[in-house]
Amino acid sequence: MKQHDVVVVGGGPGGYVAAIRAAQLGFNVACVELESALGGTCLRVGCIPSKAMLESSEMYRLATGHLAAHGVKVDGVQLDLETMLKRKDGIVTALTKGIDGLFRANKITRYLGRGKLSSKTTIVVEGPEPAEITAKHIILATGSISAPLPGVQVDGDKIGTSTEALSYTAVPKHLVVIGAGYIGLELGCVWSRLGAKVTVLEYLPRILPGMDAEMAADAQKIFTKQGLEFRLGSRVTSARVQADGQCLVECEGQPPTTCDRVLLAVGRLPNTQGLGLAEAGVDVGKGGRIVVDAQFRTTQPGIYAIGDVIQGPMLAHKAEEEGVACADGIAGKYCHVNYDAIPGVCYTDPEIASVGKTEEQLKEAGIPYRKGVFPFLANARAKAIASTDGRVKILAHAQTDRILGVHILGPRAGDLIAEAVAAIEFGATAEDIARTSHAHPTLAECIKEAALSVDGRAIHMANAK
Ligand code: NAD
Repeated sequence: MKQHDVVVVGGGPGGYVAAIRAAQLGFNVACVELESALGGTCLRVGCIPSKAMLESSEMYRLATGHLAAHGVKVDGVQLDLETMLKRKDGIVTALTKGIDGLFRANKITRYLGRGKLSSKTTIVVEGPEPAEITAKHIILATGSISAPLPGVQVDGDKIGTSTEALSYTAVPKHLVVIGAGYIGLELGCVWSRLGAKVTVLEYLPRILPGMDAEMAADAQKIFTKQGLEFRLGSRVTSARVQADGQCLVECEGQPPTTCDRVLLAVGRLPNTQGLGLAEAGVDVGKGGRIVVDAQFRTTQPGIYAIGDVIQGPMLAHKAEEEGVACADGIAGKYCHVNYDAIPGVCYTDPEIASVGKTEEQLKEAGIPYRKGVFPFLANARAKAIASTDGRVKILAHAQTDRILGVHILGPRAGDLIAEAVAAIEFGATAEDIARTSHAHPTLAECIKEAALSVDGRAIHMANAK
C-alpha cells in the first residue's frame, strides 16, 4: 500500500493545479490520471485544441477574401487541413509535456489508471500500473463528460461530440450542430470558416443561455452575417446515420434535415460514475454533482471535490481557483473562491466575454442599476484592426456605483474582460474605471468609455440625454 498526504484523482486544470499547490505547501502529493497525457479535457480535447483551430481557421478566412481591404492581395489560397490538425496536436503535446515537467519539479507522484475510492481513505488504481494508495486527504477532480441526448445515436464518427469535431479529416459539406452554447458556436465557427455549411439547432429562443441576452442577440446577428444558419426553438428528438451514409436529424414539429456530420453539444455532465462515491459515503446532489461546503469538503471527512464535479460553471479557470483554495484549506490557510468574479468567454470572432451579473439577473433580483455602453465602432484601434463589431456594457449599482456586471462583445473580449474581473474582485465602482488612464489607442479604452457612459459622460460618443 502506497501512502501520501494528498491524493488528487484527475489531472485536468482543477486536479493538476490542486496537486501543484498542495506540493508547494509541503505535502507529499500524488495524482491519479487515466490518460497518459495530463491536462484533462481542457488541454487534450477542449479549450486548447479548439483555440488552435479557431486561430488557424480565422487565418484561412482572412486569407480568402478579407485581406484585400488592407491592400494585401492573396491569390491561390489553399487549405491544408492535415497541417492545421498537426499544428493543433503539436500544441497539445507541448503543453501536456509542460505539466509533466511541473509535476517532476514539484515532486508529485503520478499514477496511470482509473482511480476509485475503495474506502474513506483509500484509492484503488485500475489500469496498466495497478496500485492501492492511502491518503489523509483525497481531492476528487474527475471533470465532466459530454451529455447524451435521447434519440441521438452518437457513433464517434459522423455523429459525435466536440472530441470528434476537433479532428474531422475533411471539411464537412453540411455540419449540423445541436446546441448553441460555447462548444456549438466555437466549433461551428471553425468549420464554417473552413467552408462547411453550418446549421445550428437550438432548443431555446436564443443562443448562449446564461450570457447577457442583449449581447447574445447582437452576436447571433454577426454570426448569421458570417454564414452560420440558426434555427432557434428547435428541439432535436433524433439523429442517426442512414444507409446512404448521410445523417438524418429530426426536430419536434419540423421537417428533418440531412447532413454529412452532426456535432452534439448540449452541455456536459459531472464525471462521477464508477468513482465509488456511495461506498465511501460521499453524497451527490442536484444534477449528479458532488455536494461540498465552501471549503470543498464533501459529506465524508478527508474527501474533497473541485471543478466540474461540483456545482457552478464548468470552466477550467473556475476549477483552477477551486484547486488552489482547496489545497490551501487542507493546509489550514484561508480558503475562498469569489464566484461573482469568474469570467466566461466564448472564443468566436468577435469574442463574447462576461463577468458578474447580467441585466436579466439584476432585473429579476430587483437590484437598481445604471448601464454604460460603448461601441467598438467608435474606437480608433478597433478601426485600425478592422474589427468594429460589438460593444462593451457595464452595469453598476444605481446608488453605490459599484460594478455588478461587465459584458463585452468584440475583438479580444476574452483578454479585455480581465480588467473588469479585477475591478469586481477589488469592489471597484464605474467611476474608479472612468478615472483610470487607459493607453491610447487600445481596445481597452472602450471599457473606460463604457464606465464614463454609466454617468452619461463618454467622450467619443454622443451620450443619451
Ligand atoms: P452549453 O450548456 O453551453 O449549451 C448547450 C445548449 O444546448 C444550450 O443552449 C441548450 O439550450 C441546448 N440544447 C439542449 N438540449 C437541446 C435539444 N434537444 N435540441 C437543441 N438544443 C438543445 O453546453 P456546451 O456548449 O455543450 O458546453 C458544455 C460545457 O463546456 C459548458 O458548461 C461550458 O461552460 C463549457 N465550455 C466552455 C467553453 C469556454 O469557456 N470557452 C468552451 C467550450 C465548453
